[in-house]
Amino acid sequence: MIPAAFEYVRAHSIDEAIAHLQQHGGDARVLAGGQSLIPAMRFRLARPAVLVDINSVRDLSYLRASDGVLEIGATSRDSDVERAGWIGDRRWSLIHDVSRVVADPVVRQMGTVVGSLCHNDPSGDWTTAALASRAEVVVRGKAGARTVPIDEFLVDSFTTAVGEGEMAVAARFPKPDDRTAGSYQKIERKVGDFATAAAAVQISLNADGTVRAAGIALSAAGPCALRVDEAERLLVGREPRDETIRAAADAASRRSAPQADLRGGVDYKKHLAGVLVARGLRQALARLGARA
Ligand SMILES: Cc1cc2nc3c(=O)[nH]c(=O)nc-3n(C[C@H](O)[C@H](O)[C@H](O)COP(=O)(O)OP(=O)(O)OC[C@H]3O[C@@H](n4cnc5c(N)ncnc54)[C@H](O)[C@@H]3O)c2cc1C
Repeated sequence: MIPAAFEYVRAHSIDEAIAHLQQHGGDARVLAGGQSLIPAMRFRLARPAVLVDINSVRDLSYLRASDGVLEIGATSRDSDVERAGWIGDRRWSLIHDVSRVVADPVVRQMGTVVGSLCHNDPSGDWTTAALASRAEVVVRGKAGARTVPIDEFLVDSFTTAVGEGEMAVAARFPKPDDRTAGSYQKIERKVGDFATAAAAVQISLNADGTVRAAGIALSAAGPCALRVDEAERLLVGREPRDETIRAAADAASRRSAPQADLRGGVDYKKHLAGVLVARGLRQALARLGARA
C-alpha cells in the first residue's frame, strides 16, 4: 500500500530537528532508518502528518567509548555496531551477539539501535539487550537533555518515555569490566524474522567466582521487553552452579507471558524462554572461562 500523504523535512542539526518536532507536536515523527516506520506507514498503521528526517544531522552518527560508557548516536546503524573494531572483545559479547541477529544484513545497513529502542517492538532485540545491560537513553527537547534508564524508557508496546517535541539522541551502554560477559540467544523461524523467543544475559563475576551482577531479559514474552528480576536475584551472590542456572531459567519461564501466534503457542514460547536463559548463562560463563 501507499502511505497517506505527509510532509517531509530534513533536519541538519539536533536543534533544527527539535524545532520541527516542537512545531508539529503529536503530528510529527522522527525518521531514522525507516525500517519500521515506513512499513507501518505503508500499512496505514502510522499516519504522521510530518516526518522529520534526522539522517543529515552529522553529529548523530558515532560509536564513542568514554567515561566507562559506550555511547551510540541516534543515526548509527546496526551494521556500524556489527563492524566496530572493539566488538569482538569478550566484555561486549552481548552487544556483539545482538548486532549479528537483528533482522537481516540488508535491514541492518539502515536500521538504527536508537530507532529500535524508540520503536519498542515487543519482539525487538535491542530493547532486550539494553535491559540486560542496564543501558540508558539520552532524550533531548527544547529544555535540554535528560538521561532515562532503560527500565523507565520502555513504557509499553511501541511506547517510550520520549515525549512530544522530543527526540532520542543516543543510547548509553555501561562498559562491562574484565569479569563480565554476555550472550544473546534467539530462536527465529528463518534469518530476518523477529524472535519466536529470545533471551539477553549479562553476568559479572567476583574474584571468588560468585556472581556480582546479573542482567536477564526476554523478548517476545509480553507487551514489552521483560526484565526477569527474580532470575537476576537468584544468581547474585551465589556461585553459578547448574542448580542456580536451572532455578533462574525456571523463573524466566514462569515470568514469560507471550502471546500465541503463527510463531508458536504460549506453552512452547514459555518453555523456550527458560531454555534460552539457561543456554545464555552457560555461554556467558564459558566466555569467562568459568564452568557451571
Ligand atoms: C524485514 C525486517 C525484519 C526485521 N527484523 C527485526 C528483528 O528481527 N529484530 C528487531 O529488533 N527488529 C527487526 N526489524 C526492525 C528493524 O530493526 C528496525 O530498523 C528498527 O526497529 C527501527 O529502527 P529504524 O532506525 O529503522 O527506525 P524508524 O523505522 O526510522 O523509526 C521507528 C520508530 O522510532 C521512532 N524513532 C526513531 N528514531 C528516533 C529518535 N532518535 N528519537 C525519537 N523517535 C525515534 C520513529 O519516529 C518511529 O516511530 C525488522 C525490520 C524489517 C523491515
